[in-house]
Amino acid sequence: MKTIDGSRRTAPFTLDSLHDGATLTLSACVHKIKPMGAFAFVMLRTGRYVLQATYTPETCENDLSALREGAYLTATGVVRAEARANYGFELVLTGFTLLSQPVADYPLHVSARKLGCSIDANLKYRSVALRNPHERAAFKIAEGVCEGFRRFLMANGFTEIHTPKLTAAGAEGGANIFKLKYFGRDAFLAQSPQFYKQTCVAVFDRVFEIDPVYRAEKHNSTRHLNEYTGLDFEMGYIDSMYDVMEMETALLRAIVDHLAAYYEPELKLTGAVLPSVGEIPSVTFLEAIELIGGGKNKHDLDPADEVKLGDYFRERGSDFVFVTHFPAAKRPFYAMDSVDDPRTAESFDLLFRGLEITTGGQRIHDYEQQVAKMRRMNLNPDDFASYLDIFKYGMPPHGGLGLGLERVVMQLLGLPNIRQASLFPRDINHLEP
Ligand code: ATP
Ligand code: MG
Repeated sequence: MKTIDGSRRTAPFTLDSLHDGATLTLSACVHKIKPMGAFAFVMLRTGRYVLQATYTPETCENDLSALREGAYLTATGVVRAEARANYGFELVLTGFTLLSQPVADYPLHVSARKLGCSIDANLKYRSVALRNPHERAAFKIAEGVCEGFRRFLMANGFTEIHTPKLTAAGAEGGANIFKLKYFGRDAFLAQSPQFYKQTCVAVFDRVFEIDPVYRAEKHNSTRHLNEYTGLDFEMGYIDSMYDVMEMETALLRAIVDHLAAYYEPELKLTGAVLPSVGEIPSVTFLEAIELIGGGKNKHDLDPADEVKLGDYFRERGSDFVFVTHFPAAKRPFYAMDSVDDPRTAESFDLLFRGLEITTGGQRIHDYEQQVAKMRRMNLNPDDFASYLDIFKYGMPPHGGLGLGLERVVMQLLGLPNIRQASLFPRDINHLEP
């Protein structure tokens, strides 16, 4: 019998192990081989870094011809300070053990600084494209956004939840819902965790969730996916939606600080400029329309309007702008109507560099008010019986928001297409890989 005690686990390569003269063994992929005449550069790609190694037949006991790009190996060498190399060090190879050899050349330029291929080729060979360090950096940044989100919210008394994605009714309305058969009856893929996160406010006061969201968007836009990662939170005992906006502002500041502290390699590689999150300006929908000299749509900002508004505030020093008090008619039935003007909702969007990344607001918490609003919107309260139970049995005043992870990453890195911020994007043409 064997016992597994966990203490013999192997450590990954980190930059801390780079000291002039140290002997280093690491597992890596052969990212690129660059013959230089008397010697060769062998770029070694680990899960996060690309370390420069040098090969000469005199110093290395193995033959370079055993290696090709894409091979996986365990390499040993001596670390040497080298100002021109990534991270200021290189590895003088003394030996390696080949672990596996590919049978084909990469179909994309994995070792180029940027892939430089079309988005179609990128998605077709996604498993290869992601090996490009610039391409994969987006997903380390995404990790940092989620970790910053989680740390901040947990420090502020929120509980992490995971709620069903197979549901009986859509929360957001509209036609963009996936319908499927569920043991002989109709079911839907969750368009948001809205009902469940509200339900959990009555249980935990403050909750958050990082989980997939499904939208059956048929259009092929650069800002929509059919499956995206929603960063949602919902909080009880608020006075107004401004409490939610205050929380989001502090949250964004914490996420940016987290990225600055832990993701320097990726920020440097991608040239991403982190926004400074000071006080975020907030305008009403009507003010926004006036600032941009008239909008295209009576009820919402369309993508071109968002860009114009983003530019307006960027010129005035903010990468972010809140837009509040949208016409209630186009906001979901759970949005609270404004007391001052019931034609508008206590609901807001947050734009980041000219793109909506959040919708949030205060929700109705009173049973009668919710039933009345459903009726006004031609919805049958009987179809929402289990959701209405939460109000029937009492709810505190509450509100929350949903932030799209891929949109945040796309804007942070200035990516032209949201698909590059999704590991395996789902759109109308892609269900594989
Ligand atoms: P849009 O108007 O841009 O289509 P929306 O208003 O329909 O978005 P919401 O229901 O407000 O989207 O969703 C909350 C957040 O989730 C959005 O602000 C955005 O960050 C993200 N999001 C929504 N739909 C998508 C999608 N199809 N793909 C990627 N992210 C999305
Ligand atoms: Mg929205």
